[in-house]
Amino acid sequence: MHVIIVGAGVVGCAVAYELASGGATVRVIDARGSGQGATRASAGMLAPYIEGHSTALLQLGVRSLAEYDRFVSRVAADAQRSIEYRRTGTLQVARTDEEARALERHGRALAESGATATLLDGREVRRYEPALATNVRAALLIPPHGYVRVGALMDALVDAAVSRGVQLSVARAQRIARVNGRVAVETAEGTLAADAVVLAAGSWSGGIPVDAAAAPVRPVRGQLLQLRLPRPPLSRVVWGSGGYVVPWEDGGVLVGSTVEEVGFDESVTAEGVRRLLERGERLVPALGAAVFEEARAGLRPATSDELPIIGASTTMRGVFYATGHYRNGVLLAPFTAVMVAELLLGDRERPELELVRPDRFGL
Ligand SMILES: Cc1cc2nc3c(=O)[nH]c(=O)nc-3n(C[C@H](O)[C@H](O)[C@H](O)COP(=O)(O)OP(=O)(O)OC[C@H]3O[C@@H](n4cnc5c(N)ncnc54)[C@H](O)[C@@H]3O)c2cc1C
Repeated sequence: MHVIIVGAGVVGCAVAYELASGGATVRVIDARGSGQGATRASAGMLAPYIEGHSTALLQLGVRSLAEYDRFVSRVAADAQRSIEYRRTGTLQVARTDEEARALERHGRALAESGATATLLDGREVRRYEPALATNVRAALLIPPHGYVRVGALMDALVDAAVSRGVQLSVARAQRIARVNGRVAVETAEGTLAADAVVLAAGSWSGGIPVDAAAAPVRPVRGQLLQLRLPRPPLSRVVWGSGGYVVPWEDGGVLVGSTVEEVGFDESVTAEGVRRLLERGERLVPALGAAVFEEARAGLRPATSDELPIIGASTTMRGVFYATGHYRNGVLLAPFTAVMVAELLLGDRERPELELVRPDRFGL
């Protein structure tokens, strides 16, 4: 089977890798090369018990987190590269009584759903993370969470995909149509035809109509800082009400993130950087002395119900969607790839596809 994937972000590349591993002939096209969209700005947190704002999203996130060990070790082995991936947990912190009460409720709900989470008081929190601000009065420790360093993951994913025969090229898709019994992707450089096409163009997916149907995905900008200290200030990801801090092993520290409805504007702004510097320092005061390395911005692909769109198009045979992953594309990429690959290659429908069906948006 010959498959074209439109979009070389973490989702498109993971799908390409999985399909090629299953024996498909895969070509990925991207308007600007791999990993240049939202993926580039991602913090790489793997935290479904914090980000799972609905039962369906929680279910998908937990399922994808369960794939991560295997996914990273397969990609690293095929690429012959190492990927920084740690499951050191997250600490979700509270600085006010109200936040502490909300954490307690969240901890109870998690315990009832069978997840492991431990509520810590201020003294215990500082035993775990001495660099945290002294006004932190409680925290929820969620051990299964973690992070992956997204730049390293993308480099490895591209190499692993290529090692499985995937071809990557730069081309801008304009439209998808059916021509002579095949699916055709019209690009500025000409038309490419395949047995199947997977639309994985993140926030830009709606601009590539499938005949008349356009995926209702809108861009939500997020800005993120990359700072550096001589040593990691924390041993796990820390979440506060206004932001989060991700410590890498080499002293790199990510501080995120803003949530802005500004259309297709990928700029970093002075206001965004200022707010993130303040939030980071409020959580970890030592960040005031950090070296400023970079600020990045990305457009999270959001849908109206905050769930991705994954599965077969009901309006055009041979077209599949893998888009709309909003705040969790890195977390959800491995399971998205498994679901899409099984659907295309084995005609097997995982039950979770019911949660993310394209036809809920008439696609
Ligand atoms: C600040 C920030 C922090 C985040 N933190 C996390 C996190 O901690 N954990 C997590 O799981 N998620 C996080 N996310 C969300 C995550 O980054 C996204 O959900 C994910 O990157 C989406 O991946 P994607 O491959 O669908 O889209 P993208 O990475 O945006 O890739 C889409 C690709 O399509 C290409 N494209 C666009 N138009 C065309 C066209 N016409 N033809 C061909 N190609 C085209 C683009 O060039 C791009 O490369 C974060 C996002 C942001 C912005």
